[in-house]
Amino acid sequence: MKDKRMKKIDLFLQTQKKLTFTYTWLIVLFLVLFSVIVSVFFMGFVYQEQRQDILSALYATENGRVVVPDLAESRSEDLYFFYILNNRGGVVAGSEAFPTAGTPYVEQLARWHPNRDEFRLEWNTPSRAHHDIRKPKERERLLFLGARPVVAGDGRPAAIYAAKDVTFYFEVFQNLLLVFLFILVFFVIAAVWLSYSMSKKAMIPIQQAYKQQQQFLADASHELRTPLSIMNTSLDVIEMENGEDLTSFSKEVMSDLKEEVGRMSGMVQHLLILARSDSGAVEFEMVSFDLVPKIRQWVQSFEAVAHTKHISLQAELPDQMTVRGDIERIKQVVYILLDNAIKYTPEDGKVELTLGQNPTYWSLSIRDTGIGIPEDEQPRIFDRFYRVQKHRSREEGSAGLGLSIAKWIIDSHQGSIEVESAVGKGSRFIVKFPNL
Ligand code: ADP
Repeated sequence: MKDKRMKKIDLFLQTQKKLTFTYTWLIVLFLVLFSVIVSVFFMGFVYQEQRQDILSALYATENGRVVVPDLAESRSEDLYFFYILNNRGGVVAGSEAFPTAGTPYVEQLARWHPNRDEFRLEWNTPSRAHHDIRKPKERERLLFLGARPVVAGDGRPAAIYAAKDVTFYFEVFQNLLLVFLFILVFFVIAAVWLSYSMSKKAMIPIQQAYKQQQQFLADASHELRTPLSIMNTSLDVIEMENGEDLTSFSKEVMSDLKEEVGRMSGMVQHLLILARSDSGAVEFEMVSFDLVPKIRQWVQSFEAVAHTKHISLQAELPDQMTVRGDIERIKQVVYILLDNAIKYTPEDGKVELTLGQNPTYWSLSIRDTGIGIPEDEQPRIFDRFYRVQKHRSREEGSAGLGLSIAKWIIDSHQGSIEVESAVGKGSRFIVKFPNL
């Protein structure tokens, strides 16, 4: 019972966890998307702006001559350097915001021969050796370089190179990412907390509905028991008082009625057990007892029905076997399994029950030579209301509840149930209970 209640709580907890995960995931996804969109816009905007600046510097002319800006006194938003190099790498003209002896960029630029307007983004590492102490200390800079081919005065090809220092934008971008990361962490924590409490609230009506439905099932099946037993007794009374006077047709109707009432009582009883098991209202009375005489007695009660179907019912039992469990519930398991074995075995078949025990567990196996269960259906036969070959099972008066009840009882004893079956050959149900 404890086990079952745990499972039910697990179900709600699991759903709650799933909801929390989904909510959080959605929020994170939304934030990441937002960050990506903002970053792309930011980068696009900066790129366009810088590109435009570089282009206007590359194409600035005065009276048909290229304008070489004086960058010595430049401000941060101005160009970082400007060069015109001939095709041998010689400086035709140039200016730098931070003049460095040996102009290290020139060597690099000399290898770059643009065919049209070209742009590059490069990290510029300052050369410490030639550092001029009068100038502000140089640091690593991110340069946005642009170049275009020109024809020099002597008719030889040359190129104009201009660079802008975009380190500031890079740092802004870095900080932006950092802020996004902080917001993301903050939001994830907030989202987990928020979605957890939200999903908890969302679960309340579901939990209530689940409880109400269980209560309804328990009440309905409980209420149905009384009229059914009255019907049963009334049928007995009619049979006793007027049994002799009844026509053979009426007798047949009477026996059909009794059979149907019996089936209904069985189903209602099963429903009641399941409803109670769900609401955790069933207490298990765990005792140590000798299972062998009990099994002998239980098997005996099936002998009559087995006999009418010409089924040989055998039990292979040890002399004695002490187990621990709830006697009534274990009896229910044995009844459900024996009932099924006889129900789903054609005439002249065989049903065999065996008991076994080892230091860790004891087992009960019920084997029949019946119709068998298709392999793909085997895992589902323990589900509520699940029946293989539905029409046939209904003819047998089954509702598909027996095995789910058996499984619940076995689970509550921390045991296990397995089925081995082949269609047309028979089935074997093996139940294992730990030696508690
Ligand atoms: P039911 O009341 O229908 O027997 P159960 O839950 O006990 O419900 O069994 C579920 C289904 O599993 C049955 O409808 C039947 O199709 C199949 N089944 C159970 N036991 C056997 C068996 N021994 N041989 C063949 N089929 C079985």
